[in-house]
Order: sequence, then C-alpha cells, then structure tokens
Amino acid sequence: MRLSPAVRLSEYFLPTLREVPSEAEIVSHRLMLRAGMVRQEAAGIYSWLPLGFRVMKKIEQIVREEQDRIGAAEVLMPTMQPADLWRRSGRYDGYGKEMLRIQDRHDREMLFGPTNEEMITDIFAEHARSYKNVPLMMYHIQWKFRDEVRPRFGVMRGREFLMKDAYSFDLTPEDGRVSYNKQFLAYLRTYARMGIKAIPMRADTGPIGGDLSHEFILLADTGESEVYCDQEFLDIDPLSAEVDIRDPDAVQKVADRYNALYARTDELHEPAVFEEQVPEERRYVGRGIEVGHIFFFGTKYSDPLNAKVTTSDGQSAPVLMGSYGVGVSRLVGGIIEASHDDKGIVWPEAVAPFQVALINLRVGDAGCDSACEDLFAKLQAAGIEVIYDDRDERAGVKFADMELIGIPWQIVVGPKGVKNGVVEVARRGADGRDEMAPDAAVARIAG
Ligand code: ATP
Ligand code: MG
Repeated sequence: MRLSPAVRLSEYFLPTLREVPSEAEIVSHRLMLRAGMVRQEAAGIYSWLPLGFRVMKKIEQIVREEQDRIGAAEVLMPTMQPADLWRRSGRYDGYGKEMLRIQDRHDREMLFGPTNEEMITDIFAEHARSYKNVPLMMYHIQWKFRDEVRPRFGVMRGREFLMKDAYSFDLTPEDGRVSYNKQFLAYLRTYARMGIKAIPMRADTGPIGGDLSHEFILLADTGESEVYCDQEFLDIDPLSAEVDIRDPDAVQKVADRYNALYARTDELHEPAVFEEQVPEERRYVGRGIEVGHIFFFGTKYSDPLNAKVTTSDGQSAPVLMGSYGVGVSRLVGGIIEASHDDKGIVWPEAVAPFQVALINLRVGDAGCDSACEDLFAKLQAAGIEVIYDDRDERAGVKFADMELIGIPWQIVVGPKGVKNGVVEVARRGADGRDEMAPDAAVARIAG
C-alpha cells in the first residue's frame, strides 16, 4: 500500500489540541489525542485519523517486509469466526469473557476473533496433505477483538487492535525450531528497523512446556513489564548481523547468542539469580511494553483439528506449529512512550508520518508561496514525504504543531530568507537551525 507522498495542511485533517486531555493517564495517550491521531469511539475502540493511520501503516509495512523476507506468505482471514471451530479445538468455553460472542440472523454462533490459531490450522488441514507442503509459514495483519477487563493507555491496551499473527507448520521438531528462530530474527530486525529497542525475554510456556517462547519488550519507563537483563544485550545491533536465513545453523547461532545473555525472565526477577548471572557493571533494570510474543506449541491445535501430513515413508503425523504475534497498533503508542520530549512526539525516521514539515511563514506573500511550491515539488521528486503547512496561521502555532506531531525535519520559509535565497532547516529533537539554499535543504534531508 502506497501512502500519499505529500499533503497540504490546508486540505488535511489534523485536529491538534492545545490543552491536555484529562482522560489520558499516560504520555503516549495524551500525545496521540493532542496530535489528532486517534479518536475514542467506545472504551478501547478507536478511529484512526489521517496522521495516526499513516504511522500505523508504516509500522505495518515494516512488519510485512520482514515477514516476507523470511518467506512467510501473507493471507487475510476474516474478523468473524464460527464458534464451532473453537468448539473443535476445545477453546470456546475456556476463553471466557474476553471473547466477544455474536449471533447472526439465523442464530448461528459467531465470534469476533481474538486470535487465529484455529482458523489457520483448519485451512492447513483442508489443503495441505504431505510432507512436501512443509515447512510453511503464513501470516496476516488483521483486527482482533478482546474484551479486556480494563482497556487503558489508549491504543496500548485496546479492545479492538491490529495484530500481525504468523503461524508455522513443520514436520519435525528440528524444522520447527528453525521456523521459530527465523521468526525470532525477523522480530529483532523488525523492531530495529522501527528505530526502537525491543528485547527478547524468555517467556513462560505454560502447561505445554519447553523453552520456545519469547516476549519482545520495548524499553519504556511507563511499561507494564519489569525488565532485568544484561547491558551487553542492549548493545547488539540486530541489523548488523546479516544472517543467511536459509542456513539453519547460522539462524540457530544467532538465537543462541541472544539466549546466552540472559536467563529466564522470571528467574532474573530473583535478585540472587540476577546477581549471579550478570556482572554488576552490566546489570540493566528497567521497564517495558510487550510488543510481540512468539510461541512454539507443537501439536496443540493440529491434534484436535486433525491437521496431519503424510511423511516420506507413508506414515501420517500431526503437523507441528508455532504462532508469532506483533502488536501493530500497540506499537504506535509504545514508540511514543519510548520517544518524546516536552514539546511532543519525536518519531524515529522510519515510522514518522512524514519526513519533513515545510513551513510557510507568510502565506499569501508571493515570494514565500512560490519558494514553498517549488520545494514542495522538489521534495516529492526526491522521494521525501512532506507535509506542507500552508495554513494562514501564526508562526508560533505552526512550529508548535509540527513539533507536537514529531516530524523529523523542518524547512522554514520566510520573507527575509526568500530575499536572500535561503531557508532554515531544523532537526526535531536537536537545537538550532541552519540557513541554506533551498536545493541544499532538499539534499541535506535526502542524504
Ligand atoms: P498482554 O499480556 O499485553 O495482554 P497477550 O499475551 O495477551 O498480551 P498475545 O496474545 O501474545 O498478547 O498477542 C500478541 C501481541 O498483541 C502482544 O504482544 C501485544 O503486543 C498485542 N496485544 C495483545 N493484547 C492487546 C491489546 N488489548 N491491545 C493492543 N495490543 C495488544
Ligand atoms: Mg492479553
């Protein structure tokens, strides 16, 4: 999906607020409301306004590209599911009040999907028959509904939320581990590309056992999860480790390296264990937000839903599965928690709604208008996404709005500069403005 490469603010819908909304408890929720990114429709249910929508789509696209890179095939399953499918897996009754149950006009029992293990397993069971169909990974990016007891923190704990969920299908535990590790690496790359630190923490696998579950925790002081880890862990740059994902050994080696740097999350919560495992100078204690959760669960769904494949020697075996979730809409709030200042949001470049805000200080002045039109066209030609503030507003309002919505670069065009053939360039989060010729400004931002 291609987002509009350029917008004029006079034609855009950016309902920013000066005052701080009182209903919002945490900074990301306040800033999302003030920046006009979302509007609450009911508890935990939001409309995504133009600016919020753009950021969500950017995040979604990074997630998609990294899933595609490891060979996962994108599908789209519906939000509505038949209750019977969940009866067959045995989860319908146990799921409880978090599941929104609905009846259609024929009194058939339906539900708004909180997740899709059952449906994807059923799809696999119908169409895949042999060992030749695996290894296989499929994913979709779709709205989920969970009737959370306490929806809060804006989009971070919503009831309706956008999730990427991927599923792996393998014949042997060894292959299953390779699929898991591919996802593990894809997650490291996904978050690093978004410009954030999200660290994998070994998670409890519950009654199924085994150690193949990790939560990915985005570091932020306001997070719900406690983080205890080795500082060395935070210093690794996942993008620098270019791994050949077709090589199972290479994939395993990287996953092992990460796993070696920390013990089980719950064990590290024990001060004694933490102190024993991590040298004092490398102990990191903080808080974070769960932005992803990956899980290998073997035959949990393939057994009851009868998803089997024939092996090369003609036997029949249930397929081994894993599931891999990313909280796409939660990340919008999460990234703001991790990256803001007293003026507003500071978007990492990769997820910023636009790269540059073009600010016309005197709309109606022929020189300013034509310099801005010229820059507006040149920025687009250079592939830079631009929001052009062509509103008839005071300079102070324009600066405050563009800082609030966190645009990484500003180009400021005023009558004095236009006479001297220069514009001002500023970087969000840095002090000072540099004067330069308009072409140099485009080059600086493109570079
Ligand atoms: P949590 O412990 O935060 O409730 P979970 O364990 O229920 O999360 P999963 O079922 O693993 O979450 O879902 C995958 C991802 O979806 C989570 O890592 C999280 O980022 C996101 N997610 C889960 N619940 C919500 C929600 N209510 N609102 C927004 N995002 C959510
Ligand atoms: Mg939950």
